Amino acid sequence: MDVTIHRGSKEIGGSCVEVSAGGTRLILDVGLPLVDEDREPFDARTTKNKSVEELIAAKVIPNVPGLFGDGPRPDAILLSHSHIDHAGLLHLTNPEIPIHATKGASQMMLAGDLFANQERLPKERHHRVFPGRPFTVGAFTVTPFSVDHSTFGCVAYLLEADGKSLLYSGDLRWHGRKPEMLQNLVGSIAPRKIDALVMEGTHVGSGRGKGKNEYELEAEILATIREAKKLVLASFSPQDVDRLLSYMNATRDAGRVFVADAYTAFVMHLVAGDTEVPRPGEADPVRIYFNATFQKKRNLQTVAEKIGKSRIELDEILQSPERFVMVFRPSMTRHDFGGRLPAGCRCIYSAWRGYLEKPDWMECQKQVAEAGGDFVPRHTSGHIYEEDLVDLVTKLNPKRVIPIHTFEPGGFSRHFPNATPLNDGERSPIE
Ligand SMILES: [Zn+2]
Repeated sequence: MDVTIHRGSKEIGGSCVEVSAGGTRLILDVGLPLVDEDREPFDARTTKNKSVEELIAAKVIPNVPGLFGDGPRPDAILLSHSHIDHAGLLHLTNPEIPIHATKGASQMMLAGDLFANQERLPKERHHRVFPGRPFTVGAFTVTPFSVDHSTFGCVAYLLEADGKSLLYSGDLRWHGRKPEMLQNLVGSIAPRKIDALVMEGTHVGSGRGKGKNEYELEAEILATIREAKKLVLASFSPQDVDRLLSYMNATRDAGRVFVADAYTAFVMHLVAGDTEVPRPGEADPVRIYFNATFQKKRNLQTVAEKIGKSRIELDEILQSPERFVMVFRPSMTRHDFGGRLPAGCRCIYSAWRGYLEKPDWMECQKQVAEAGGDFVPRHTSGHIYEEDLVDLVTKLNPKRVIPIHTFEPGGFSRHFPNATPLNDGERSPIE
């Protein structure tokens, strides 16, 4: 068995890993970069209308034989989750390569396509995987394991072939709503004495201590809603279903009504059967507001029919703003609120602080201030804290640790004597 990190050995984003054995080649994730070579934010729009050759030359896509262009085709792509830094280049891959993903990951990609301008993949490319259920691809036995992260339907993959074994972590955390997922992973993996662990290290070397967990964040959001006098605007990714639950619970406990937008309602509709999230239209008192842009751009007939009487118009919200917590994104200021946010609104922001430097969020903070409101960041990371990572890797007890999804691969060597950082494109045998 050999492993190659095509990209992600020294950066967060653009993850792409190849594991091969006995003539079978598996690709784990095909992500879009988040930063360019100067670590400035990567502009995904620069990929539009470019050929595969141009994108390879520009180092936007890694040069993996047969994955995007010419050469012998890999046998399968295994997707860990739907975030663009893991899935954002899938639409450029050779259409004959099957993509294995959980039902949840496929659902979130569909939602991203309909509501967040992400690229659509033909249905026939999706091959469903079931956490805990092994399947074979050529020489490999592949077992997905559920992990907790900031989108729905995430897995790690155990790959076994040639009498060797490798676990790819995908993205994960131990401070979410489902800490038992990592307990189960440890219970399954530790006894097998795996040969290699390819481990995400977003927070390695960040110097950040252990932060709050999702339940503590929910309590903070509740207090923040309780202090608000007027309309609360809630800004978070609807694909992060556990964060959606934090907002729905906090809203209920604060005695307010949760107003989902069409995107959030669609995600609720997809995941209702598999989570605590109620089906839109069935959950009183959740109401649905159809944002102006979605209404104009999308055919929302199916969603609209399912929602029925739960629908709410802006007038009703503005008549008694103190009763509602409303899902919000910056484009709504212009399209829905006529350029002026409701007086005294409180905007709670639940995403990475780095995005606040972007023009739309800079403008949004200004507009909240102009409305006499306040802007309150309330967030916890989707990635495992360094302290938890040390605990997890120690418990998994692999023969060798290979860092990925980190700007500090050398930080692994400080924690683990068996850490072997690789370079992008470097092929390494698993022994
Ligand atoms: Zn992720």
